[in-house]
Amino acid sequence: MTDHWGRIIVRLTTLEPGGIGAPGPVADDKGVHVPLQRRGGALHLPPTTVAGSLRAHVRARRGPDAAVRLFGKIGDDAKDRAAVSRVGVLDTRMVPAADNGDTETRTGTAHDRIRGAAANQTLRTMEVASAGSSWDIYLSYEVAPGTTPAADEWPELLEDIACWAPLLGRGVTIGRGRTYVSDMFAGTLDLSDSKNLLTFLTHHGPDLAAAVVTRYAVPGNPPPPLTPRHELACTITQATHVGSGETYTAPGGAPNGSTSEGAPPNLDDDQHQVAAVMQSAGVPIVPGSSLKGVMRSRIEYILRSVKSTPMPCIDQSCGDCFTCRVFGFSGRKNTNGDPTRQARGRIRFEDAPITGATTTRTHAPIDRFTGGVAQQTRLRDNDDSMRATREQFGLLHTREVVEYGTFAIRLIDLGLDGDDALLSALLRLAIEDFNDGLVGIGGSTTRGYGRVFIETSTLPELSDAQATLARHVGAGGTI
Ligand SMILES: [Zn+2]
Repeated sequence: MTDHWGRIIVRLTTLEPGGIGAPGPVADDKGVHVPLQRRGGALHLPPTTVAGSLRAHVRARRGPDAAVRLFGKIGDDAKDRAAVSRVGVLDTRMVPAADNGDTETRTGTAHDRIRGAAANQTLRTMEVASAGSSWDIYLSYEVAPGTTPAADEWPELLEDIACWAPLLGRGVTIGRGRTYVSDMFAGTLDLSDSKNLLTFLTHHGPDLAAAVVTRYAVPGNPPPPLTPRHELACTITQATHVGSGETYTAPGGAPNGSTSEGAPPNLDDDQHQVAAVMQSAGVPIVPGSSLKGVMRSRIEYILRSVKSTPMPCIDQSCGDCFTCRVFGFSGRKNTNGDPTRQARGRIRFEDAPITGATTTRTHAPIDRFTGGVAQQTRLRDNDDSMRATREQFGLLHTREVVEYGTFAIRLIDLGLDGDDALLSALLRLAIEDFNDGLVGIGGSTTRGYGRVFIETSTLPELSDAQATLARHVGAGGTI
């Protein structure tokens, strides 16, 4: 009985920011903050999350019987609970990224369905674990006494784990949470051997695992990018600003000597503040969250226009409409008003790095009443201490933009199954609206920002897309 008892230590290294969100966001006057889950001050990856993901991976490679044998059954049925799992997750430990620490923040806004732009007062700050950080996962393998596992069960389990590359944590549908096994250690103890038994009896917990395991060869290289279901080439045709929510101070007064919006009172006259574009590794990006938000919003609009049933819900929470099923939903309420159901989306939008340089643009908005340049004090007149200094300044926005550039929208199928054809048709129809200038990417799209041209050659023809949608709504003909 050599292979009845084993320990495995797996190092999962993150290729993208990720992490598990704490339950319950924190709101204040600046917006909503979504922290990561912590335990004893350290970032926490719940063992149940890891176990569920590994179970799904083994099921995909070996089939449902192997998944039940190794991980037990899932279900509330008392009979199901009798199927004891051989593989358990004992502990998870965070290993911070060497160069960029353990966490960073990402900001975003909710997409306003009425204005077709970022909703006001919905700035969300999400804490995410930095890319390059790792999780050490401690796994146990124990076969009940009197049971004999197949001779190849243990080596096959190690083989499966070595090629595990899970998408973990929140935001996996917006380009977050991709991980891979960068290192692995494994070992078994034959407890009928007195020397092994002594090791077993004199160590426990992670120490016992460390005493038993030796390095198991894994490829160790990051896996290739996920294969996209659609990869759509985009060209920026009007300056695009996807803000990071951060501003920086730049030398040189804003044109005509005024300061820009949001400038603190002590800012020197020869400085101004600039709203930064979102970047990743020093490159401007259109984050997956923006692409998903604007595409979902436009697809909801199309489905409402053709009176699809069930009609897309207005708060992304019903769980029954097409967009909830494909893009995910959260916070569905039961009859007591408590959120009970949520589901991850089945299509993933990755962050899109932009090839193109950033520049800045300054705007002086027109005062709707006087017809002149709006004054800063109009926003600040509830603050008497600032009135004297601010009265003379025009209200200017300076922002970083990408004027010319290209990027690619990469969509990954996370299990679309029967919804694939309709989604492809709806993407084709939504992109027609982008290319007609009805919809844009990033901020100030209602003022001409963020126009893009999206290549459609890999999607259905427009007439085929219309026919697919017509069949879906049961119109049986043209729309
Ligand atoms: Zn819905």
